[in-house]
Amino acid sequence: SAKVIDGKLVSKQVKDEVAEEIATMKAATGHVPGLAVILVGSRKDSQTYVRNKKKACEAVGIKSFEVNLPEDATEEEVIEHISEFNNDSSVHGILVQLPLPRHMNEETILGAVNIEKDVDGFHPLNIGRLAMQRRYPLFVPCTPKGCMELLHRYGVEIKGKRAVVIGRSNIVGMPAALLLQKANATVSIVHSNTKNPEEITRQADIVISAVGVANLVRGSWIKPGATVIDVGINPVDDAESPRGYRLVGDVCYEEVSKIASAITPVPGGVGPMTIAMLLSNTLESAKRAYNFK
Ligand code: NAD
Repeated sequence: SAKVIDGKLVSKQVKDEVAEEIATMKAATGHVPGLAVILVGSRKDSQTYVRNKKKACEAVGIKSFEVNLPEDATEEEVIEHISEFNNDSSVHGILVQLPLPRHMNEETILGAVNIEKDVDGFHPLNIGRLAMQRRYPLFVPCTPKGCMELLHRYGVEIKGKRAVVIGRSNIVGMPAALLLQKANATVSIVHSNTKNPEEITRQADIVISAVGVANLVRGSWIKPGATVIDVGINPVDDAESPRGYRLVGDVCYEEVSKIASAITPVPGGVGPMTIAMLLSNTLESAKRAYNFK
């Protein structure tokens, strides 16, 4: 049965490393990293994410800044706050919590963030550089970066291997495929219009699934010995849970863990890595700002 890739453990290691480096930086420069989060509207899930990011910042010594705007705020108001943070030298990372209200243009708003503070890696220039040969973005999006970090820390070979990414969203699937390609894998992308996706995934040494459909990836989709990274977070009814539901990934864990050589659980796999990578990107940005190596 497959080795469990423990994202909770690795994220703790990353956070400990980040905290230690921040302490050293503070002693040497007198500065700590700062992260600004802009939340528009009052979605419960977004509020929870923002709260968790703030807590995680405090735990490692990152100063956090927060702006909450009402659902009916204008694009100009959001951009005004972004500009303020762009010009604030104590802020090294600016994050606009997605999704934005429907009346706002996501590309315009994300494009207003100074690329040197784009710790989410969603600025079109950073995404563009990720797609180019021999070019590197200033920041890589946190969830796919977390997937790569798990592969690296568990010693999974990528170079020359066949990798399949299921899903092609701007925030996970697409950048994950670009990162695997940059790491010299041969990459295929499977999406909602792909016919017989299992024929493609069965050829993969590495599968990253980022879809949002519970139990989509069955045992029959996976080559024996493959490494499977499950990004999906899907609520399914569970009468025994106090909340009435529990969270599962895209991968049918029971079947796939018998066939794969390594697999991430949900929860406790990719999930905790996302915030860890955000902290790491914010530290990276501050190190650049203070020329601290
Ligand atoms: P999305 O809805 O933006 O994209 C889903 C992608 O899956 C699309 O590209 C679509 O083409 C593809 N798709 C849909 N149905 C498919 C099918 N039947 N077969 C193959 N491909 C199909 O979602 P997203 O934002 O990329 O998120 C994907 C999942 O990852 C969600 O469950 C989300 O909750 C989770 N997620 C987790 C983290 C984290 O762990 N920190 C972060 C972001 C997203």
